[in-house]
Amino acid sequence: MVRLILLGPPGAGKGTQAVRLAQELGVPHVSTGAILRQAVAEKTPLGLQAKAVMDAGQLVSDEIMLGIIRERLGRPDCRKGYILDGYPRTLAQARALDTILASQASHAEGAPLLVVNVDVEPEELVRRIAGRRSCPHCGAIWNVYSHPPRQEGVCDRCGGALAQRTDDREETVRERLQVYESDTRPAIDFYGKNVTHVSGQAAPDTVFEEIQGLIRATVAG
Ligand code: AMP
Repeated sequence: MVRLILLGPPGAGKGTQAVRLAQELGVPHVSTGAILRQAVAEKTPLGLQAKAVMDAGQLVSDEIMLGIIRERLGRPDCRKGYILDGYPRTLAQARALDTILASQASHAEGAPLLVVNVDVEPEELVRRIAGRRSCPHCGAIWNVYSHPPRQEGVCDRCGGALAQRTDDREETVRERLQVYESDTRPAIDFYGKNVTHVSGQAAPDTVFEEIQGLIRATVAG
């Protein structure tokens, strides 16, 4: 299959695309944000440590993230490939991932690597994130402006009560966008010509088809 690294600012639609792509391709969606949010919800030592950092819109340390990602990508369900969403977020993480990928080339059955950056204008990102609501029960993502559930505050898919992520509040969003520019841009630059840029301004279906086309070309190529 494919090992897809999905890059892009918070609110670009990485999570939405990753969920659909993972379903379509039958590979796991590996979201470092989701792993951390689960640890926070379960109040594990990692969760207790990560919560304050996440609520401040900052990044969890490279050392902790490397441990998480190495363990997750080493699990058997990742052998045929995966959709990686939310990692790498710093230059050090991109370098560390390179080392992991090199060592996993054999047991990931040589799944080709595709790096896609989904980009969206900053004002649009703030609007999207402010409107984002997610279902803590089934993980579905909604948006009060662009993709509302039929009944306000209730998940169409499972009937669960929708919630706003604590780090999606406006003051935290601005901090996250700044951290993205200062810390994550260098990670994208690290991939240089090996990253394919996709506009995330278009409708989710359009973005999905474009990424699917890139995957098809990568797998065929
Ligand atoms: P996300 O769901 O990808 O927007 O991630 C939510 C938050 O989790 C981020 O704002 C960070 O605080 C933390 N986080 C997720 N992935 C990483 C990562 N690769 N490195 C550092 N912090 C991360």
